[in-house]
Amino acid sequence: MIGLALLGSTGSIGVNTLDVAARHPDRFEVVALTANRDVDGLKTQCERWRPRYAVMADEDCAAALDTALRPICPEVTVLGGASGLEEVARAPETDYVMAAIVGAAGLLPTLAAARAGKRVLLANKEALVMAGTLFMEAVRANGAELLPIDSEHNAIFQCLPTQCLPISSRGGLDHLGVRRILLTASGGPFRTRPLSALRHVSPDEACAHPNWVMGRKISVDSATLMNKGLEIVEACWLFDTGPDRVVVVLHPQSIVHSLVEYTDGSVLAELGNPDMRTPIAHALAWPERIASGVAPLDLFTVARLDFEPPDVTRFPCLRLAREALAAGGTATAVLNASNEVAVAAFLDRQLSFLDIPAVVEDTLARVPNHAGSSLEAVLTADAAARIAATSAVRARPL
Ligand code: NDP
Repeated sequence: MIGLALLGSTGSIGVNTLDVAARHPDRFEVVALTANRDVDGLKTQCERWRPRYAVMADEDCAAALDTALRPICPEVTVLGGASGLEEVARAPETDYVMAAIVGAAGLLPTLAAARAGKRVLLANKEALVMAGTLFMEAVRANGAELLPIDSEHNAIFQCLPTQCLPISSRGGLDHLGVRRILLTASGGPFRTRPLSALRHVSPDEACAHPNWVMGRKISVDSATLMNKGLEIVEACWLFDTGPDRVVVVLHPQSIVHSLVEYTDGSVLAELGNPDMRTPIAHALAWPERIASGVAPLDLFTVARLDFEPPDVTRFPCLRLAREALAAGGTATAVLNASNEVAVAAFLDRQLSFLDIPAVVEDTLARVPNHAGSSLEAVLTADAAARIAATSAVRARPL
């Protein structure tokens, strides 16, 4: 049995992971489930899965969960706080860690899993955007297995000739005969809406993704295309390449999940219905294949596939991500933190949708970039960016 720790089990990726695990009870044992504040959601999951550990990042919620579980699941050990998340990520019973906490809060437990040499199923792209150098070093030094859950990166992984990350151990993309990575993006709900109409869009409109059902933060990131910006950074770290080799292609149907172009002119793609259970099942079973519950792709129903270049005026977050990546150092940590603050303010109806990139751009200009890649440098940059971004939000009242 493979011991599975799910960081962020009450979220969209967490629930999809449990759906896949439930189809293979002879293969996976759920060792740990974690959430932030959703006590009822985690209690229900604990009743169903009976994990060894349940963690609530919020300490008060951990106490509430402990009280709720004591009479019904006394065997579950309830832990609280960031230390509890790290503890289950490196626990000896844990073989695989699904890193599906949203945002910077996922960095430390995901890093703990890499340092403990676990198989890390990485959905929490923000960890890699913040601390790519540190994270990839931890993976390499401790023999961790890093498998991408983001559908695009999982597709690229499937299209590469080697079946082993990190690619750097194979001499980089040149040694594999790869010319470019083509990262697909649906374009989100506002791909064709006039720019002038975007000023007053509501959080619910921004979260109504045409093809994927996801948590609210990544849904807004998909609408601004910051998600694709973060994914360019993620691809550079995962596949050990420069941003000039990563091309974004708008593909509104979300059937082709990404492509790899080779020097001989071949282009390999991974296709499927837009359902996160496919990459989750792939990473859980790799190098084998297991059932995911995803409906087979019916090409006759899909009928057509469209591709177009992204409009960088409409989606300035793509440019901002590339600029931060080029700046290096702690700039991508600042990009990530300021985006988190801006998206939270938008979801809280404190900021206009169109001002999300403006807050990120202001913050990148104001927070000094540091060349260091230590955890301390990353966390200091993250904290400084949150202060600067909060004041940039206040300077743009709705
Ligand atoms: P959700 O918002 O649906 O879920 C987030 C999970 O993280 C919840 O379990 C939540 O707990 C927990 N969480 C939130 N804040 C904290 C915190 N401060 N400390 C500890 N745990 C916390 O997000 P998604 O599942 O959509 O996304 C998760 C990650 O996966 C993101 O990084 C996203 O970019 C990535 N991803 C998601 C995809 C998708 O289809 N959803 C696709 C590709 C990548 P609680 O319920 O208590 O709030």
